[in-house]
Amino acid sequence: MQKNSIKDIIKNPKIDQIISVNGWVRNKRGSKNVSFISVNDGSTILNLQIVAESKSISEEILKKINTGACLNIEGILKNSQGSEQSLEILAEKIIILGEADADEYPLQPKKHSLEFLREKAHLRFRTNTFSAVFRIRHALTFAVHKFFNEKGFFNMHTPIITGADAEGAGEMFKVTSLDLSNIPKKDDLNIDFSKDFFGKQTNLTVSGQLEAELGAMGLGKVYTFGPTFRAEKSNTSRHLSEFWMIEPEMAFADLEMNMDMAEEFLKSCINYCLENCKEDLNFLNVRLKNEEDKLKKEERSELGLIERLEFVVKNDFERLTYTEAINILRNSKPNKKKKFEYLIEGFGADLQSEHERYLVEKKFKKPVIITDYPKEIKAFYMRMNEDKKTVRAMDVLFPSIGEIIGGSQREERYDMLSDRMNELDVDKKELWWYLETRKFGTCIHSGFGLGFERLIMFVTGMKNIRDVIPFPRTPQNAEF
Ligand code: ATP
Ligand code: MN
Repeated sequence: MQKNSIKDIIKNPKIDQIISVNGWVRNKRGSKNVSFISVNDGSTILNLQIVAESKSISEEILKKINTGACLNIEGILKNSQGSEQSLEILAEKIIILGEADADEYPLQPKKHSLEFLREKAHLRFRTNTFSAVFRIRHALTFAVHKFFNEKGFFNMHTPIITGADAEGAGEMFKVTSLDLSNIPKKDDLNIDFSKDFFGKQTNLTVSGQLEAELGAMGLGKVYTFGPTFRAEKSNTSRHLSEFWMIEPEMAFADLEMNMDMAEEFLKSCINYCLENCKEDLNFLNVRLKNEEDKLKKEERSELGLIERLEFVVKNDFERLTYTEAINILRNSKPNKKKKFEYLIEGFGADLQSEHERYLVEKKFKKPVIITDYPKEIKAFYMRMNEDKKTVRAMDVLFPSIGEIIGGSQREERYDMLSDRMNELDVDKKELWWYLETRKFGTCIHSGFGLGFERLIMFVTGMKNIRDVIPFPRTPQNAEF
């Protein structure tokens, strides 16, 4: 007798043999003499049908087989006569591993809203949609490591607790072991952080980039893949307070090479899912189509989910400068007709998500990379261009997501970097180690940050970032 996952059983069915499977009941129907129980064990989106005849399974057991219960089933694998599945197990013995009260179990076999399931995040792994999303999340994690490993990058673990609050990417959460009801103060009434755990003020990291740069200046090519934390109050469908970021950093690479790598990387991850997550993607494809059918015609996407993924893999991304993008936006219909919430008047404007989506979805109809942004709207570490007005930044914009990657060629010239830090009031004493890499053996280098959840949103077609991470952290919400 073999005990296998449902995925293995379907892949390699040993018809007429006795097998044993475990799984959770999705649905039960039938008559007095025979019950048909649909079970899923999470290994695949496909369920296995169990045929339980009253002559072999006692009524006492059958009574306890409710949706949500966990079972072990032993029986003979058969080809199924039913139209919905090709295999079934004729049960000889069923053990109830865990009962589920029929009246109390929240996930009855009917359609639940995503909002409802967010409140049941401890159980939502047992739904088709979320199990598909989280299997794809795993596949993408694997694809990320596979890509970088094959390209000769080294994975680097950067600190989660950081002593620098100058990373510049957003509001930070403080980390302390001080007694909050009795905070030590200095004579000037400021908090005395010398009494705190690390003897200084510390925060949760908003990005591993600065440390990744240090690694790249010795290891050549590194990447981080870790959690980042931003205490921003923005309650949008694209922002989490805790999210996972992938940050490659390459020595001897300019912005062109950075863009080429970003494009190849995204295509490779998406392609990995197309090849390895077919059943989950087929399910999500149908799901998205049903969702979009409810929308007005002009709000629907022209392409289905899988078509969209194939399109990205097969086509070159459009590359243009910020200045070119501003010209296009200034002369665009929604700008002239004052349809944008933020109208584009000229150079200097920050691009909002409505502008990004116009460029990607209306103008070019494909992913877009915008480069050379005004220095005022980008971070201190980006390399200054000859014009002294723009920096070597790049943002990759995706359909329905907007910004998915933000990156740049880094300022490798000591004096230029030092000047920018002065101008922007970045604490040079605190970042002494960052500056020193420009003093000792500096070289051109580049990197970027990919918000992992935004990539998962794109691949799964989920519209809210809270639905692609198992337990989302957002303002006023840290349940589970
Ligand atoms: P946005 O303008 O969307 O807030 P950002 O400019 O703050 O993004 P970066 O600091 O460049 O973003 O971070 C790199 C990447 O991390 C972004 O391209 C995005 O994919 C992702 N990202 C940024 N903030 C968040 C967040 N709060 N939740 C999830 N992903 C995020
Ligand atoms: Mn942001």
